[in-house]
Amino acid sequence: MESELGITTFRGLLYYFPYKHIDRSRLYHIHELTADMPFVQIKGEILSFEEEGVGRKRRLIAHFTDGHGVTDLVWFQATTFKWIKRSYPAGKQFIVFGRPTLFNGRINIAHPDIDPADELQLGAMGLQPYYNTTEKMKRGGLNSRSIERFTRTLFERLQGEVMPETLPQSIIDRLLLVPLAQSLHDLHYPATADALRRATYRQKFEELFFIQLGILRYARQRQQQVFGHVFSHVGNLFNTFYQHNLPFSLTEAQKRVIREMRHDMGSGKQMNRLLQGDVGSGKTLVALMTMLIALDNDYQACLMAPTEILAEQHYATFCEFLNGLPVKVALLTGAVKGKKKRTAILDGLSSGDIQILIGTHAVLEDNVAFHRLGLVVIDEQHRFGVAQRARLWKKGPQAQGAQTGTFADITPPHVLVMTATPIPRTLAMTLYGDLDVSIIDELPPGRKPIETRHFWQERSESLYRGMRAEIAKGRQVYVVYPLIQESEKMDLQDLENGYQELCHVFPDLTISKVHGKMKSAEKDAEMERFVSGETQILVATTVIEVGVNVPNASVMVIMNAERFGLAQLHQLRGRVGRGAEQSYCILVTKYNLSQETKQRIQIMCDTTDGFEIAEADLRFRGPGDLEGTQQSGMAFDLHIANVARDGQLVQLARDIANEILDNDPGQNLPENAQMWRHLKELARDNVDWSNIS
Ligand code: ADP
Ligand code: MG
Repeated sequence: MESELGITTFRGLLYYFPYKHIDRSRLYHIHELTADMPFVQIKGEILSFEEEGVGRKRRLIAHFTDGHGVTDLVWFQATTFKWIKRSYPAGKQFIVFGRPTLFNGRINIAHPDIDPADELQLGAMGLQPYYNTTEKMKRGGLNSRSIERFTRTLFERLQGEVMPETLPQSIIDRLLLVPLAQSLHDLHYPATADALRRATYRQKFEELFFIQLGILRYARQRQQQVFGHVFSHVGNLFNTFYQHNLPFSLTEAQKRVIREMRHDMGSGKQMNRLLQGDVGSGKTLVALMTMLIALDNDYQACLMAPTEILAEQHYATFCEFLNGLPVKVALLTGAVKGKKKRTAILDGLSSGDIQILIGTHAVLEDNVAFHRLGLVVIDEQHRFGVAQRARLWKKGPQAQGAQTGTFADITPPHVLVMTATPIPRTLAMTLYGDLDVSIIDELPPGRKPIETRHFWQERSESLYRGMRAEIAKGRQVYVVYPLIQESEKMDLQDLENGYQELCHVFPDLTISKVHGKMKSAEKDAEMERFVSGETQILVATTVIEVGVNVPNASVMVIMNAERFGLAQLHQLRGRVGRGAEQSYCILVTKYNLSQETKQRIQIMCDTTDGFEIAEADLRFRGPGDLEGTQQSGMAFDLHIANVARDGQLVQLARDIANEILDNDPGQNLPENAQMWRHLKELARDNVDWSNIS
C-alpha cells in the first residue's frame, strides 16, 4: 500500500484496527425481518429488476427471495444501475447484508452489501471488521472491504509465525491478558464479542503501560543521576519581602507549595515540578517568592511567559512587588529592540548583575547565557515538553564546556512549570509523568464566584445595558472575539465591526482595541491604557487569553462563544473575578447551536471549577485534540486506548510499571528482556528518552 495511506508496513496494517465489528454469523429468513433490526443478512436470489420514479427520485428495485418470502433491495444512484444489474444477475445465489427499513408498507434494504454466496464462508465470517477509510484511500480505490482482504491475507500468511510477546509472562498471568499475537488477531477477527473485548483490553493496557514505563524509567534515571543546586537557606531577600513587601497574607495553599519547593530545592536533586492552580489562585506570587530563595543562595532566576503581553505584565508586577529591595530585574522579549539595549541585558546576565530575567521564548536563544542560573519558572505552558525543558539545562552554570550531554556533566537549574489549565489526573500521568505535582486548591479570600450567563447575539440591547451599569460603578469590561488562523480575515472583520458598534453605542466612553496583528508597541500602548483605567472597554482577540491581570475589570463578554473550547472559555473567564467585586462572564452565541455546544455553554454556566471543566473538555474532545499533545511528551501513539475513558487502566498501567522498575532496576532480568527491547524500539521512533539534550 502507498505511504500516503499511512500504512507502509505489515506492522502498520496489523495495527490498523477496525472501528467496529458487525455480527455476520447469523442468517435471517425474509419473513423474520422487521424495521427495527440494526443489520441483517439474508441468502437468496434476485427475481427481477424494476426502475421507478423520475429525476432525483429515480430508483432501482430488485425483488429478492430466499424461498420464504420476498423483499426489495433498493438503489438511488442512477449512474450505478447498469453496473448493479450486470453484477448481480437474477437467478444467482447471493448473500445480502444491510439495514431493513419500512417503505410504503414493505420492508426493503437500501444500498445493501452483496457477495456471491459461494465466495463467502458464512460460518467462518463471524464478526466482520469495518475499517475507517479516508477520502484519500477512497480515491485510491480502497474501501473497508479491500482493507479487510489485506488483513485477512496477512493473518493467513502469519499462521504459525510467532509474534514475540512484549509483556513478561507474570504480568500476563496476573492480569489474565490474552497473548499479544492473539489480541492482534482478535482485534480484527474475533470469534466472539467476548474475544473482542479481551483483545481490546490487552491492547489498551499495552499502549498505556509502555508510555508509563518509558516516562517512569526516565524519571527514575534522572532522579539517580541528576544533581541539583542546593538552595540551603532562606535569606534576607525572602524574609524582607515576606515581612515588608507582601501586601496580603499568603493562602494556606500558597504556603504549602512554597514549602514543597523549598524542600525540593534543598535536596541536592533537580526540582521538576508542575504547579497547578486555577486562574487567579496566585501562582505569580509563589513564583516570585521561590525565585527570591534562589537569589538568597546567590543564584539567578528566570521566568518564561508564553506571550509578550504577559511577560511585560509579569515584569511590571515584579518591579512593583520588589519595590525597595536590592534586586535587579530585566525584561527580554522579541520586542526589546536595539543592539545596545540587548547587549546591556546579555552582559548583565552573564556577569550576574541582573538577578531575575523575565521574558518570552527569546530567553532560550543560544546567546542568552547566565552567570549562575539556578531556577527557571515556565508560566502557563504546560505544553512545554520534556525535550524543550531539557534545552534549559544547558543554561546551567556547569554546562559551559560540557559537550557530551550526559546527565553527569550538567547541574541543571531547578524547573517550575506553572499552569492554570487544570490537567485531569489521568492525562497528567500520561503526559507529564516525570514531573512532581503541586496544587494550589484555594483562592485568595474575598473572591466572589463569577456569575456566568448565556446571551443570544440578537439581544445586544440588554447586554449593553448590563455593561453600562458595571462601567457606571467604575468597573471595566473585556469584549473578546475568536481568532483562528483559517478565518483570520473574517475574524478580524468581526472584531472591527464589533469595535465600531461599541464606539457607536457608547460614544461617551473610551475603548481600547488589541489583536495579534498589531505591532507590539501599539498593542502594549493600548493594553496599558486599559490597565491604567484610562479606557473602560477592551475589545480584543484571544491574545489576552492567559495571565492578564486587571483586577478592576469585572465583566468578560465572549462573542461567538460557540467557537471556543471549554478550556479557552475557562481561561478567558479567569481574566475577571480578580478583585473583590462581583464579576460576570457573558457568553454570547448565535441562535442555532449544536447539542454539544449547548452542553458546553451549560457547563460554563453551571460551574467555575477548573477541574470539572477540564474533565468535561477531555470527554468532549478526546486527548488527541488537546493542542500540542505530540510535542508535550505523549511518547507513543495511542491507537485504541483513550485517557479520558480509560482512566482506571492508566492507573493500573502506572502501578505495574512502577512495580517492574522496583524489581528490575538494572533492566537485566531475563523475563523482562523482550519488554525492554520493545520499549527501546518504540522509543526509537518517538521520543528518545536517553538523549536529554
Ligand atoms: P494566577 O494564579 O492566575 O497566575 P495571579 O498570580 O495573577 O494568579 O494572582 C491573581 C491576583 O491575586 C493578583 O492580583 C495577585 O496579586 C492576587 N493575590 C495573589 N495571592 C494573593 C493572596 N494570598 N491574597 C490576596 N491576593 C492575592
Ligand atoms: Mg498567571
